[in-house]
Amino acid sequence: MSIIGVMGGICSGKMLFCQLMKDMYDYKIVQFDQEIDLNKTAIQIYNNWNTPTIITAITTQEQIRVLKKRNYFHLIFLDASTYTRYRRYCKKHGEINFDDFVKLDDKHKYDLNFLELAKNCKVYLKNNSNTIEEFSNSLKQQMTKIIRPFRPDWDVYFMKIAYTVKQRSNCMKKSVGAVLVNNNKRILSTSYNGTPKVMKNCNEGGCDVCKESKTLDLILYKCMCIHAEEGCILELGITQTRNTTLYTTLFPCVWCCKALLQAEVSRIVYCEQGNWDLSLQIIQNLIKYDQIDIEQYIY
Ligand SMILES: [Zn+2]
Ligand SMILES: [Zn+2]
Repeated sequence: MSIIGVMGGICSGKMLFCQLMKDMYDYKIVQFDQEIDLNKTAIQIYNNWNTPTIITAITTQEQIRVLKKRNYFHLIFLDASTYTRYRRYCKKHGEINFDDFVKLDDKHKYDLNFLELAKNCKVYLKNNSNTIEEFSNSLKQQMTKIIRPFRPDWDVYFMKIAYTVKQRSNCMKKSVGAVLVNNNKRILSTSYNGTPKVMKNCNEGGCDVCKESKTLDLILYKCMCIHAEEGCILELGITQTRNTTLYTTLFPCVWCCKALLQAEVSRIVYCEQGNWDLSLQIIQNLIKYDQIDIEQYIY
């Protein structure tokens, strides 16, 4: 279930991109030109919902509006440097001078209101490759961005919740969000870092350490902020934390590692690495951990 629309400047490689998606992933190519009946074509695409389809070139807001009626449609912006596109143009259509190409390119961009259209793109791809093989290899590496699964997997789902939780952090030094989940994929608790509830919030001056600009690791033991991972455990107690998965936006510090071990949390999923060599050592061999790159998943 996938409909991909492609937009991009002159000679950015839109047709080549479509062809590679066809060869590598069996996408059906639909070319939009001026004669096409947009609504009729869209209905044909919707009816063949099981056929992955790639459409080139998207050039109007109306096309995007119609295609967006299916939530498995997404738009990709394909780009290449002006000079690269100029060279490709000359190869394809014969030599012209660079100034003329820039004029042509500007007209194309501004006539189509490219910047406005590009706001609809979820994925930006660069194609400065000199050979088809080079481009195809670079696409393979970016496939998790290009072909979006219909819905996020559990790890991405809970991690995105952790990022939402993180927004409630009141610590002025660093925001972290965490979510504790049981084996049945049910959320047991959520927490973000900040001062204990009886105190003033960190961002209102509740933690003297966070107000200063010393490095975080040196003064952690004096810091009044409760960490997000710690907060998740405190909400529950060990009878419920045993064999759970903790999703945290930042890899746990040493303090939280100790708490997680004691709480018998069995898996940690994190995004940002942090600066915690020692906590990594503590966790290794004791708790299974996985890193996910949330940036790759765009929904
Ligand atoms: Zn703080
Ligand atoms: Zn911590």
